[in-house]
Amino acid sequence: MEKRVSNSDIAAVFYEIADILDLKNDNVFKIRAYRRAAQLIEGFEKPLSEVEDLEALPGIGKELADKIRTLLRGQKLETLEKLRREVEPGLLQLMRIRGMGPKRVRTLNEKLGVKDLDSFRRALDSGEILELEGFGEKLVADLKKGLSEFQEYSKRTRLDVAKAQAEELASYLRGAKGVQNVEIAGSLRRRLETIGDIDILVTGKDPSAVMAKFVSYPKVREVLSKGDTKSSIVLESGIQADVRFFEEDSFGAGLQYFTGSKSHNIALRTLAKHQGLKISEYGVFRGEKRIAGRSEDEIYKLFGLSYIEPELREDRGEIQAAKDGKLPKLIDLKDVKGDLQAHSDWTDGRNSIEEMALRAKEMGYEYLALTDHSKSQHQAGGLDEKELKKEFAEIERLNQKLKGIKILKGIELDILKDGSLDLDEGILKEADLVLGSVHANFNLSKDEQTKRLSKALKTGLIHILSHPTCRLIGEREPIQIEWSELIPVLREKRIAVEINASPHRLDANGEL
Ligand SMILES: [Zn+2]
Repeated sequence: MEKRVSNSDIAAVFYEIADILDLKNDNVFKIRAYRRAAQLIEGFEKPLSEVEDLEALPGIGKELADKIRTLLRGQKLETLEKLRREVEPGLLQLMRIRGMGPKRVRTLNEKLGVKDLDSFRRALDSGEILELEGFGEKLVADLKKGLSEFQEYSKRTRLDVAKAQAEELASYLRGAKGVQNVEIAGSLRRRLETIGDIDILVTGKDPSAVMAKFVSYPKVREVLSKGDTKSSIVLESGIQADVRFFEEDSFGAGLQYFTGSKSHNIALRTLAKHQGLKISEYGVFRGEKRIAGRSEDEIYKLFGLSYIEPELREDRGEIQAAKDGKLPKLIDLKDVKGDLQAHSDWTDGRNSIEEMALRAKEMGYEYLALTDHSKSQHQAGGLDEKELKKEFAEIERLNQKLKGIKILKGIELDILKDGSLDLDEGILKEADLVLGSVHANFNLSKDEQTKRLSKALKTGLIHILSHPTCRLIGEREPIQIEWSELIPVLREKRIAVEINASPHRLDANGEL
């Protein structure tokens, strides 16, 4: 069977090439070209296999297009294979640790012979690393933290990455003989921020055909077990995937059980006990007799509960709320009326304001706020007062021209280290929307960080505090803030808090 090559497979190859070139101190333009192409491919809506003229894509020349075609044919890329042979795999892993760029990895490798996680740990613990130029106490403490974060996170996979792989596997399984239902369960169905492994449930006529198809998935690295109704594999990405076969009569019970969470299921089991019933992955039983199990709906109804959405199944009061008919209605894509954070090609975005506005209109949005970066974001081409004034004029022009979409004049304003604002009050007052953001000095103490934000928010010039904890899942810990001090300021100044839905951020999250 032919292996389907997705855009993210291709992007991953280009990212890896860029990383290795970077580690080898190769030509910066070459490195940048690979990274840009990877970003473009990652964000591209259509599968590249359906694009006829690859060279017409921005940033893709003849050479990159040839490489994409090779990958699309399912072949390996000699450029990457050769580069991989040239460096130790441990060095690439080290580059993914927070604070460890290619230059530092190179230095540690040359001076101390650091070549993998273990030797890096030893260099940190022995204090040897402190003798190197440029590696002070503070940096070493940060690197230690970075290493333990890395080891913690590497056991789990970010939601979007796991979701793409699970959906690809699920649609592959739908092709097995006699299959009826294929559903992804587990923490992925509950939309947790990171995922441990992939759980898939299947019903149909022929369990053995499902198991055979599953273990011959082209993207499998290792088959852990193959049984009559359950099998486990490790995918090429390193994520484990389990498939379970269920009869129609118990599919709802299985889906409920394997969706979890564990604590939600325990609460449900207690409820069953009180009613003299037993619940398992095969159904709800009175004595030996199964009285529910076909659908989750049926099971919740039996316990006198309204249907509980998977995202709410964490035993945080959802069972009582379902009993009282007080479950919240979850927000769906169709509820989204506009976007209040968007960057255009005036700074680090890829498209023009007009293109973005037209696309927003197409998506059914009523409004779109342009919130390009302010001037201290040099690397993103941040705007100063004069440039922002020009952008606002362009927005006004477009608002005259375009019908059916309102573009708001916004700015993502840097909150500087001392809590002052990156742009003058005058221009901020001309804006429809000011987002206040922290983009540097993430490591201030809790006291300093709280003072910094509090000072900025008290100016009354900021409407929304964006990505409030600044965390990047798997890459950067949240900044330290005393929220009990900051929330009253937010309330008094009527400042909203962004819920940034990028899978890298998910900030603020439900906990905050
Ligand atoms: Zn930002």
